[in-house]
Amino acid sequence: MVSFEEARSIILNSVQLVGTERIHLLEATGRVLAEDVTAPWDLPLWDNSAMDGYAVRAGDCRTIPCKLRVTGFLPAGARADGVTVEPGCAVRIMTGAPVPAGCDAVVPVEETDDGQQEVSLLEPVKKGQHFRFRGEDVAAGVTFARAGTIIRPPEINMLAGFGLALVPIYRRPIVAILSTGDELVELGRTPGPGEIINSNTLSLAAAVTECGAIPRIIGIASDNRASHLEKLGEGLKADVLITSAGVSAGDCDLVRDILEELGAKQVFWKIGIKPGGPTAFALHGSTPVFSLPGNPVSTMITFEEFVRPALLRMQGQQQVVRPLFKAVLRDALKKKSGKVQIVRLLLEKEDGRWYATSAGNQQTAILKTMVDARAIAVLPANSTDFAAGDEVDVHFYGNHIELE
Ligand code: AMP
Ligand code: MG
Repeated sequence: MVSFEEARSIILNSVQLVGTERIHLLEATGRVLAEDVTAPWDLPLWDNSAMDGYAVRAGDCRTIPCKLRVTGFLPAGARADGVTVEPGCAVRIMTGAPVPAGCDAVVPVEETDDGQQEVSLLEPVKKGQHFRFRGEDVAAGVTFARAGTIIRPPEINMLAGFGLALVPIYRRPIVAILSTGDELVELGRTPGPGEIINSNTLSLAAAVTECGAIPRIIGIASDNRASHLEKLGEGLKADVLITSAGVSAGDCDLVRDILEELGAKQVFWKIGIKPGGPTAFALHGSTPVFSLPGNPVSTMITFEEFVRPALLRMQGQQQVVRPLFKAVLRDALKKKSGKVQIVRLLLEKEDGRWYATSAGNQQTAILKTMVDARAIAVLPANSTDFAAGDEVDVHFYGNHIELE
């Protein structure tokens, strides 16, 4: 058995980055940048006006009000070559237009009488005011986004601003999902006596998609050698294989043996965690294989704590585990020393502090508690009972903006 922390670090050290590809910016949101990107030119590319107003010489405007002759007009999109602000003159200019030669300040229209032939300036003028200088945003050659960055609208805006339509990103790993067990029937069929619907496949596919990876559904392996050989073999063609069930110590638990027969090397079996203890991790060449317990709650918790970080790391992300923060327990929690215990929680914020209440019956077989939970407490292996008022480390489970 490995500890929770060992399992995580073994997994994160075993997985490798998937390859990279170039995709169009329109598809790039949420993807991870695979290379540093540097500015190919100065941004902005020329000095330009930050306001609608008048380009002037600050030296002409020492006494206020001051009158200047308007000698030209520069709307956004106009070219400033050949335009000069002569002494005693002003050029009417719009936001974003290149500033003409001769001027060293822009006076917003609100600080003038808005004159057309002649303009009166009503406020003192400072040299350089309302100028956007060439390169002041990003100078040519500056790295403005680093490999590992998750691409968001601001990155897209800047990449697009530099004309970079294709962006280098890590491709999405293809993740095979295989459920095992003779009791399973696929969604769409009515379960007969002793049968249950294979819900784990759907849930795992959703979780894989949430991580930015691509689920490939392999289906169900029956509890016999031939079926396991066929389905596991198919699953091993993907970048990652996740199996559910058949990994405990039951009579029909074939997954680990057949994986080994197919050439996978078991890295560990059993983690000191509850629920989710029987989890196994193997490598087939460089393909990670996660064999998760079949109980839906265990499947989801082990995915969350061990598979999700791996999938994010394979796509180049740096922050792969959800940040832990402190929450005060509203109720006492029973715990035995020896294993990390995962507790499904409700969270509330009061006077700037987080308070946690149990989301319900914590038995592994109770799925409803998982549905209700918004956060997870990770109680350290060596800890014992917690009293109401104790602080515990928690992390969000899923995206819960409504809690923030
Ligand atoms: P096992 O890990 O095979 O001992 O399964 C543990 C429990 O999870 C049993 O009650 C199974 O019926 C249930 N289970 C296994 N696989 C699935 C699945 N794909 N979807 C939903 N429940 C499952
Ligand atoms: Mg089973």
